[in-house]
Amino acid sequence: MNIDTKAALAAIVIIVPLSGYALWISEQGREPQQISGQKILVTFYPLYKFTKAVGGNKVDVSLIIPPGIEPHDWEPTIQDIEQFKTASLVIINGAGFEQWLPKLITANPEMTVIDTSKNIKLLQKGTNQTDPHIWLDPILVKTQVQNIADGLEKIDPQNADYYQQNANQYKSRLDSLDATIRTDLSNCNKKDFLAFHDAFSYFSIEYGLHQNTIVGGLSPEAEPTAATLEQITQKSQNLGLHIVFTEEAVNPQIAKVIADEIHGKVLVLSPLEVTSINNDYVDEMKKNISNLKEALCQ
Ligand SMILES: [Zn+2]
Repeated sequence: MNIDTKAALAAIVIIVPLSGYALWISEQGREPQQISGQKILVTFYPLYKFTKAVGGNKVDVSLIIPPGIEPHDWEPTIQDIEQFKTASLVIINGAGFEQWLPKLITANPEMTVIDTSKNIKLLQKGTNQTDPHIWLDPILVKTQVQNIADGLEKIDPQNADYYQQNANQYKSRLDSLDATIRTDLSNCNKKDFLAFHDAFSYFSIEYGLHQNTIVGGLSPEAEPTAATLEQITQKSQNLGLHIVFTEEAVNPQIAKVIADEIHGKVLVLSPLEVTSINNDYVDEMKKNISNLKEALCQ
């Protein structure tokens, strides 16, 4: 690594803290609307899409974490708690993703919680953490969707058939997505890829891949040191990688410094944590697969 690159790395690490980065903020989907059906709270993007798909026109879904905000280290304000404490049901990812949930439950002990990670075998990370990124494995998402359908059925048994049918339809879409991923990646000669943060462990196990990451830990908000970046650059060279992945809500310069060093290019591999609620989950995953294919197949 030459001196210019080292200086560039140092500048990134010192001057541009990752936590300062937020790309865009849209308030759409956050304001509780007039209740037309069951009033449901969900915590972040993937759950919004899954709950809309299962609940259809019988539910009125509001997001707790505003779209465009990185959810890992988000904390509710007192106003947030006030605003959401009247809801009777909240659908969470689970697996330790919503550390702040007890605050909401304390404010409203009657609130029903649907934990979509129920019946999913979670990966342990470190001594006391579970990996929450189950929403990036379409096969595990089928279980999340079923948990949502069962939860909605419990609070609204009259529409049980409707919820279960919608869940089955969505699970068929997930099966097609899974088949597409297997076909698209089947002839790739590489198994290693360089993601930004540790979001693709479940995905990698599902599809026989090996995830390397730029920042350590389960959240993208960690800041890599210059030494870490140098190590990753070296590793990428050894593995013959030519794509470095970034994601939406982080400083894009970090991936670029590594890409420049390995004469490669930066693409997005999205953990779907700050995605616009107008975007379809399956389409977003297909964009990821297209970029992954470029990393693994060429
Ligand atoms: Zn994450």
